[in-house]
Amino acid sequence: CGVFGIFGHPRAAALTYYGLVALQHRGQEAAGITSTDGSRMYSHKGLGLLTDVFRAGELEGLHGHAAIGHVRYSTAGSNTIQNAQPIALATHARNFAIAHNGNLVNARFLRIQLEEQGSLFQTTSDTEVIAHLIAKEGVGDLADLVARAVQKIEGGFALVILSDDELIAVRDPFGLRPMVLGRLGDAHVVASESCAFETVGATLVRDVEPGELLHITRHGVRSVRFAPRRARRMCTFEHVYFARPDSDVDGWNVHSVRKQLGRILAERHPAPGDIVIGVPDSSVSAAAGYAEQSGLPLETGLIKNKYIARTFIQPSQELRDLGVRLKLNAVRSVVEGKRVVLIDDSIVRGTTSRRIVRLLRGAGALEVHVRISSPPYVSPCHYGIDTAKEDELIAARHSIDEIRRAIEADSLEFLTVDELMQAFGFPPGSPVPFCNACFTRRYPTSLIDQTLNEGME
Ligand code: 5GP
Ligand code: SF4
Ligand code: MG
Repeated sequence: CGVFGIFGHPRAAALTYYGLVALQHRGQEAAGITSTDGSRMYSHKGLGLLTDVFRAGELEGLHGHAAIGHVRYSTAGSNTIQNAQPIALATHARNFAIAHNGNLVNARFLRIQLEEQGSLFQTTSDTEVIAHLIAKEGVGDLADLVARAVQKIEGGFALVILSDDELIAVRDPFGLRPMVLGRLGDAHVVASESCAFETVGATLVRDVEPGELLHITRHGVRSVRFAPRRARRMCTFEHVYFARPDSDVDGWNVHSVRKQLGRILAERHPAPGDIVIGVPDSSVSAAAGYAEQSGLPLETGLIKNKYIARTFIQPSQELRDLGVRLKLNAVRSVVEGKRVVLIDDSIVRGTTSRRIVRLLRGAGALEVHVRISSPPYVSPCHYGIDTAKEDELIAARHSIDEIRRAIEADSLEFLTVDELMQAFGFPPGSPVPFCNACFTRRYPTSLIDQTLNEGME
């Protein structure tokens, strides 16, 4: 998912909309914006792309000087309008709205507790658990209540919370999910990625720190540390695949990291090819790095239809397969008679890779050598990136050679975790500030809900 928030601008809702457009790649299932004019809150949300949800006059109804917004893809809870965000909650003390990127590992556990104590839930999303935890903290300064409530949750979370006269932004203690702070004239902005700032003309001030809460009011930005400083575990997959190349995430430009990943791939995992092709859009930067390092020509051998959303957003395997066919075409005049080095960012289920290899062969490629700019994805993400279950992950149960055969490639190689970390400048074996759990099975948090589920089966 993607979140955006702005405080202190007369066109808060419109800017939130534009910011969310820049974050649309982070979720296409639902979108919503809540604004405030200081005495009332206004909200509009719905299923689909921003352009579907905000068609004509809806933005004009979102008055006020502050707003938050959300684009969603579901990692927890089904894709229903009830689960669209921001989620509003009214207590006797105040109204507030909340939007969340990430996934909690103890939402189920907390929800059972909250329900036993009388909380009534309207959605199946873990975001509502956070809203109820905040409501239960009682009366007082909202930032204090939020700081106390988020100490109870565990997992990946980047939150934006809006009440009548304040905006609160929170980043989880490990920094699993990204979040940045920016400035637009007198207004303050926060977003999942800095590309949203470029879009609205704001400048990047800094990353929100892991374990930091920002309390933004007309008096400015106050920083509150709600969790003790500890080792960072920022998500590498944001750099590998999820984030936009023009974003800076935790001080690294995403395009530059991907290009470096491609260079390392070429150096350590060379392939006997005539041309290099990256799978658009996410692997274009890595392919450029691979071409540069190997000296092979970079070609546009695959054309993507811009109007088809990311395939993994589609819920069923059948639709995913169909989505891939709609999405990509091979350029025959480029690949015919050539040995192709195909660069992709990751293999999750393996269906995309097989289809692309077939596409290239169908267009006359002599050989297809697949190089992946990340390690084998062996274990599910519990922090908000992945929707795949372990039994859907092809690398969870299959060797690299078995995967090679499954995707029908002439050769297949991945980066190692050490090589991945080298792209950020970390020598092999040194401590790194990253989560690599989907590649290593070493999760930075406990997995409470998972244990709970296993106990109930
Ligand atoms: P797959 O191997 O699952 O067919 O497709 C992998 C490719 O599609 C990756 O290159 C990535 O760009 C994207 N992708 C497809 N499904 C998912 C998913 O569930 N999670 C993530 N992170 N990426 C996916
Ligand atoms: Fe990112 Fe993988 Fe960690 Fe999930 S498990 S937060 S995708 S690095
Ligand atoms: Mg891809």
